[in-house]
Parts: sequence; structure tokens; C-alpha cells
Amino acid sequence: MEHRGRHALVTGGGTGIGLAIALGLAEAGADVTITGRNQARLETAAATHPRLYPRQMDVTDEVSVRDGIAEAARTHGPVCICVANAGIAEPAPFQKESLDHWRGTMATNLDGVFLTFQGAMATLGRDDWGRMLAISSIAGLRGLKGAISYTASKHGVIGLIRGLSEEYLGSNLTFNAICPGYVDTPIVERNAALIAQHQDMPVADARAYLARGNRHKRLLDTDEVSATALWLCSRAARSVNGQAIQIAGGQVT
Ligand code: NDP
Repeated sequence: MEHRGRHALVTGGGTGIGLAIALGLAEAGADVTITGRNQARLETAAATHPRLYPRQMDVTDEVSVRDGIAEAARTHGPVCICVANAGIAEPAPFQKESLDHWRGTMATNLDGVFLTFQGAMATLGRDDWGRMLAISSIAGLRGLKGAISYTASKHGVIGLIRGLSEEYLGSNLTFNAICPGYVDTPIVERNAALIAQHQDMPVADARAYLARGNRHKRLLDTDEVSATALWLCSRAARSVNGQAIQIAGGQVT
């Protein structure tokens, strides 16, 4: 119960990787605000643990994030563990990618992390303890063809983490990014369905194709990512700062 009495916030905490991290933190004693756009889905997720609290919040909307986090902090206390996990992955070949699509990806995957960290850190005092995590991707470390805006946004997340780790060096805050390979979540489900449709192949073959994108040729389970997040939030990881940690079955870079 290392995190008993602490308030954690996990964006995109109603599904996939975010939900696995939220449950891990709740199991470790934290009160966990889980956010997303779909309130019904958040409530279903929150019903799985008594310390999960659903809150509708769109990470692309500055007011929604600022007010949502401030209100959550009034209820459960300062957000000392913040997991900026919300993200979208909608591939588009570069020449066919519209500016709107590019901006939409950036707004969710990069602006969203910026706004979430700013909102969470505004609830903390100068010397408070805190753990700021962002879920980047292997696409934050190397190029991913057919997903230029996604790749750029996830590289940006690592830049944000590295910059913040320098700006707050010596404080009680650490900033780290987790870079998973392909994880078995709704994003992979949706992309496997898209590939199956475009390539006219069974969905199982499309999933196998994505799994081969991981160095060990299998999809990751969400608990492999949540275990790393929990470690980064632990006392043991207090000197791990400004890192981009790969979970991809092998070396990415
Ligand atoms: P999910 O689709 O399950 O999770 C995405 C979450 O983000 C959803 O809960 C969604 O909730 C939320 N979200 C999306 N847009 C917004 C928004 N504008 N405002 C608030 N919440 C939003 O997939 P994953 O769990 O896989 O994805 C989680 C993170 O992990 C993402 O950042 C993704 O890029 C990253 N990642 C995933 C990998 C994978 O293979 N699965 C690999 C590497 C990284 P709602 O729809 O209710 O808003």
C-alpha cells in the first residue's frame, strides 16, 4: 500500500493501458481519478475498484483539463501521481494526411500531455513529492511508416519529459516516458480491423502482423506496461528521471 492517501490521475484511464495502470495504483492504495471523453465507459471501469473515480475530461480542451483536474484535486487532494496516457493512433500515409488529421493527433498526443502535466503540477506545492509519467511509444524513438503525425507526437512527448526533468532537477518530482511496442488493447484491435479491411485479410492475420512489429513477435499484455509504471512511481525509482523506457521485447534504438 505504498501509495495510500495519494491522489493519482490517469488520463484515458477507462480502457487499455490506462486502466491497467489505474488499477495497479488503486491496488497500491492510491485514490485514482480516471479520465476520458466517454463517461459511460469510465463508470463501467470505475465499478471494478472502489478507489477508481471517473471524471469526464477531453485532453484537447484546455478548460476541460484545467477545471477537471482542479475539481478532482479539491475532492481527493493534490495530484502527486500523474499518468498522461490518453492518445490516439490513426495511421495515414504522409501524402494523404490532412492538416486537420495532423493537428488532431498533436492535440491529443502532445498538447494533451502538456495540459495534463500543467494542470496536475498546479495542484502541487513547491517541495511536494510527485511522479509525472507519459505513455509515449516505440514510435517516440524511431520512425513508424504510415504514421507520421503519431511518430512526431510521440517523439514530442519524450522531448517534453526530458525538458521537464531538467527544469525541475533537484525537486521531488520525476518525469519519465514509457515506450511500449504493440500492446493488446483497443487501439491494436481497431488498427488490426483497419488493416484486415484494407489488405483483405482475416483480423487474426492482421493481429499477427502487428505482433511481428515487436522484437519478440508477440503482443504485449497491459500488465507489462503497468508494472513499469508502478515501479517508476515507487520509492525505488526515485533517481530515475528524464528517461524513455522501452518495453518492446528487444532493443528499439
Ligand atoms: P485505448 O484506445 O484503450 O486508450 C486510449 C485512451 O485515450 C482511451 O481511454 C480514450 O478514452 C482516451 N482518449 C483518447 N482521446 C482522448 C481525448 N481527446 N481526451 C481524453 N481522453 C482521450 O488504447 P491504449 O490503451 O493502447 O492507449 C493508451 C496509450 O498508449 C496511448 O497514448 C497510445 O498511443 C499508447 N500506446 C499504445 C500502444 C499499443 O500498442 N496499444 C503502443 C504504444 C503506445 P475516450 O475515448 O473515452 O476519450
